[in-house]
Amino acid sequence: MKTICVFNQKGGVGKTTTNINLSAYLALEGYKVLVIDIDPQGNTTSGLGLDKKKLKKSIYDVLASDASIKDVIIKSEIIDNFYIIPSTISLAGAEVELINIEKRELILKNKLQEVKDDFDFVFIDCPPSLGYLTINALSCANSVLIPIQCEFYALEGVSQLVNTIQLVKKSLNKNLEVEGVVLCMYDSRANLSNEVVNEVKKYFNEKVYNTTIPRNIRLAESPSFGLPIMLYDDKCKGAEAYQKLSKEFLGRIKNK
Ligand code: ATP
Ligand code: MG
Repeated sequence: MKTICVFNQKGGVGKTTTNINLSAYLALEGYKVLVIDIDPQGNTTSGLGLDKKKLKKSIYDVLASDASIKDVIIKSEIIDNFYIIPSTISLAGAEVELINIEKRELILKNKLQEVKDDFDFVFIDCPPSLGYLTINALSCANSVLIPIQCEFYALEGVSQLVNTIQLVKKSLNKNLEVEGVVLCMYDSRANLSNEVVNEVKKYFNEKVYNTTIPRNIRLAESPSFGLPIMLYDDKCKGAEAYQKLSKEFLGRIKNK
């Protein structure tokens, strides 16, 4: 089982979109995939068609009570091999509630042990912040997948991001590595996008995937229908890009 944390503390860069669509393409390839939504916004949860108001249990119960992880896993009704641990807004209180709990950084890591033989990949969608939720995700992950938006401020905050990964590596998870960097919302007509790509490549070198994700309206529409892109419009540019990314992602893992 490989656990990948999709993280960038900057908001709105494409974390959730990448998390949903990359993981869905891997499930389509036949891998058994679990997606954990650890963001109180719950965008992965609703983007995959789950109604947050109707959920009885969520990742909150895993973190804040003695609930087993198996109790909160939901099998997707729309994609085979695909499982979800949803988030609800109650998770917003968890940051504060966890303050007095011993080893609070490692709750998720310990609970994930229960399913360590059940999945090929676990993807965790992080909130755009550096609190205990994110630290829990980084502590249990084998690697971090970093989406970066192709915009003027793209690299702002990246040194902080890399610092955070180093800190977690030193204190909580010595094997944590950067899986790769995905450039999102790329606009081939804009010089700026190309400049950003070059800057990011200078910083992260070969960690940057060759596949870039274009700005594509279909990608922005599909979550409101609760569908990953291949079930919404499998011919659009965004679908092509995420499918290509899934192949590049797998190719790299196999070549290691
Ligand atoms: P947050 O930090 O709030 O969790 P995020 O990093 O998860 O945000 P997303 O939710 O994936 O970012 O994307 C932000 C917004 O941009 C969303 O409305 C999403 O639908 C849209 N979006 C993401 N990627 C693309 C794309 N390639 N083309 C067009 N729209 C996109
Ligand atoms: Mg998100």
